[in-house]
Amino acid sequence: MPNKNIFCVNCESLTSNIIKYGKDSNNQQRYLCKECKKTFINDTTPFKNLKISEYTFKKFIGFMIDDTTMEVISRNLRLDIKSIHYYRFIVFKAIEDIQDSIKLNGR
Ligand SMILES: [Zn+2]
Repeated sequence: MPNKNIFCVNCESLTSNIIKYGKDSNNQQRYLCKECKKTFINDTTPFKNLKISEYTFKKFIGFMIDDTTMEVISRNLRLDIKSIHYYRFIVFKAIEDIQDSIKLNGR
């Protein structure tokens, strides 16, 4: 399986900076981020990593659809700009995955 969905939960670094780093007690793959030198478990469902409620996240998606700037979203949802970039990445990633699976299904 390609590592394209893996990103560092600590500094949001992408695949190129991440290497496999053994397994944890639950036999889950651990990864090491070369950027911030921290290890983490990649969760295949990124939404679990979100530190905000589903309600806030839906509002965030609404702002994105309205093409609201990151600064305005940050102020409205009281989230720091780094988190906003991180959530935006997750949304774009999810959209990309959906498009990939559509192509694979021949439509
Ligand atoms: Zn990192």
